Amino acid sequence: MSARRWVLLAAAPLAVITGLAFGWRWVLAPLLGLAFLTWSIASLRALVQDAKDDTGLPAVEDGPERTVFSCPECGTEVLLLHRGTSRAPSHCGQRMTARTELLR
Ligand SMILES: [Zn+2]
Repeated sequence: MSARRWVLLAAAPLAVITGLAFGWRWVLAPLLGLAFLTWSIASLRALVQDAKDDTGLPAVEDGPERTVFSCPECGTEVLLLHRGTSRAPSHCGQRMTARTELLR
């Protein structure tokens, strides 16, 4: 058995005794707090991973080409002047799609 299961097995009778002796709010409130904390950390982790998401686009090179990002939802187009990261910008809650055009 894993250590986590042993902790749960040890905590269950303690929770029942605490709930019966002092009231169930002393059992349910910490569990609710733990659930909220776990959910908050998972949400922040998802945001950080989304920010690190790369589209695999190459860096802008000095050359006769231009990159235009377009929003698949509303059609807004953004001309890229300087690439700070390789991540595509977002619009309407979605990642914009890149289109690189050769000039001349
Ligand atoms: Zn849009």
